[in-house]
Amino acid sequence: MKIQTRIALIFTLLTAGIIVALSIFIYIFARESTEKSFFHRLEVRSDIVGHAGLQEDKTQTSLYYDIKEKHLGDLPFEQHHIIKSGEIQKANSLRAVLPMPPAFYDQIVRKEPARYFANDTSYVGLNINQAGKTVIIISSAVDLYGLEEMNNLKNLLILGFFIAMVFVFSFGRLFSRQIFEPIRRIIRNVKGINAHNLNQRLVVDGTKDEIDALSNTFNEMLDRLEITFEMQNNFVSNASHEFRTPLTVISGEAQLGLSQPEIPDIARHSFQTIFRESEKLEHLTNSMLSLAQTGFDGKKEQWEQLRIDELILFVKANVDQIIPANNVEINFDELPDDERKLVVNGNETLLKAAFTNIVLNSCKYSDNKPVSIKIGADSSQVFIEVTDHGIGIPDREIAQIFVPFFRASNTDRYKGYGIGLPLTNNIIKMHQGSIVVRSEVGVGTSFITSLPFRY
Ligand code: ADP
Repeated sequence: MKIQTRIALIFTLLTAGIIVALSIFIYIFARESTEKSFFHRLEVRSDIVGHAGLQEDKTQTSLYYDIKEKHLGDLPFEQHHIIKSGEIQKANSLRAVLPMPPAFYDQIVRKEPARYFANDTSYVGLNINQAGKTVIIISSAVDLYGLEEMNNLKNLLILGFFIAMVFVFSFGRLFSRQIFEPIRRIIRNVKGINAHNLNQRLVVDGTKDEIDALSNTFNEMLDRLEITFEMQNNFVSNASHEFRTPLTVISGEAQLGLSQPEIPDIARHSFQTIFRESEKLEHLTNSMLSLAQTGFDGKKEQWEQLRIDELILFVKANVDQIIPANNVEINFDELPDDERKLVVNGNETLLKAAFTNIVLNSCKYSDNKPVSIKIGADSSQVFIEVTDHGIGIPDREIAQIFVPFFRASNTDRYKGYGIGLPLTNNIIKMHQGSIVVRSEVGVGTSFITSLPFRY
C-alpha cells in the first residue's frame, strides 16, 4: 500500500475514533438529561396522585386530580400503584410483578425518591407523609416523545458519522497527495537521470524543509557519482589511448618483418602470430574505448539520417572481410514498402560496430553455420533480426550477456573478451532502441534489435 493511502487511512481512522467518542458522549448526555426531565415530570404527577390517595375527603381527592388533569395532563402509559400503610400483601405482589431491584425499595423506605428505568419505562417511587399518614406510591410511564427524540439523535449521529468519514477520507487523500507531490517530483527527476546525463540535478526550492534536504542529499550523491564515473571513464579512455600507439608500432614492425623476402619460415610464422595477436589487442582496446565513451557521454558523437538496409549491407561486407568463410544471408522478404520506415537517426560508425558485433558473434558461436539477417518494420520501429544455429546461451545466463567481461559457461572453445555485446547494447540504447535475445542451447540464438525510425 502506498504511504499516501496509508496516511489517508490513518487520518480517517483517527478522526473516526474522535467522532465516535464525541457521538457517544453527546448521546449519553442527551439521554441522561431527557431521562432526568421525564423522571421529574413523573415525580410531580406521582406526588399529586399520592397526596390525592391520602385524602379521606372525596372532594379533596378530586381536587388533586383536577389540578393534575388541568395543569399537567397524563403521560403515555401512566400508571400509579398506591400502597397504604399495612397493605403488606399488595406491596409483595407488586414487588413480584414490577422489575425494580431491592435498592429501589430501600430508597423508598429511607424516604428518598427512587428512580428506575427498564424496558423503555420510567419508574419512580415516593414515600409521602401528610398529617401523620403515610402512603407509598410507585408510578410508571413511557417517555414516547423522548424515546423518539433519542432514536432520531442516534440515527442522525450514525448518518453524520458515515458522511464525515467519506469527507475525511477524500480530503485525507487529497491532502496526502498534496504532501507527497514533492516526493513524486523527486522520483520522476531521479528516474530521468542515468549514466548519459549524470550532470542533471534535482530542483531545490530553497524552502529549507525536509524535501529540500532530500534533494540536496541526492544532488551531493550525484556529484560524487559523476566524479567517480568520470574518473573511471577517463582511466579507461587514457589507458586505451596509451595502448594504441605501442600496438600500432608492434603490428607495423610485424608487417615490416613479413615484407622481407628472405626471412626463415620460423621467423615468418612468429611475425604472423605477432601481427594477428596485436590486431586482436588493437580491436580490444578500441572496443574498450568505445564502451567507455558510449557508456558515459554518447552525445559527443555525430548523428545523421541512415538507411538501415544500406548499413546492414555494409556490415555483411565487413563480416566477409573478417571471416571469409561465413554463411551470412540477408533476408529482405519483410522489408517495408515504405522506404521511410528504414531511415533512423544515428551515428553510422557506432551502429555499424554494433551490428558487426552481433553478426560476428553469430558466425563465431555457430562455427560458420548459416546465419540469417532479416529486416522489417512495424508501426514505429524498424527491426533487425540476426538468427544463427549455433551453441546457444544457457537460460540462466541470458540476462548477463550485456554485462562487461561476462562470457557464457559454454564458450570455452571460442576466443572472446565479453566486451562486444555490452558495447552493442550501449550503442542501441543511445539510439533509443532495444535488443531482445531468444536462445536455446544446442539449437541457436536470435538477436532482435529494434530502432525507432525517423518518419
Ligand atoms: P565475446 O567476446 O565473448 O563474444 P560478447 O560481449 O560479444 O563477448 O558476448 C558476450 C557473451 O554472449 C559471449 O561470451 C557468449 O557467451 C554470448 N553470446 C553472444 N552472442 C552469442 C551467440 N550468437 N550465440 C551464443 N552465445 C552468444
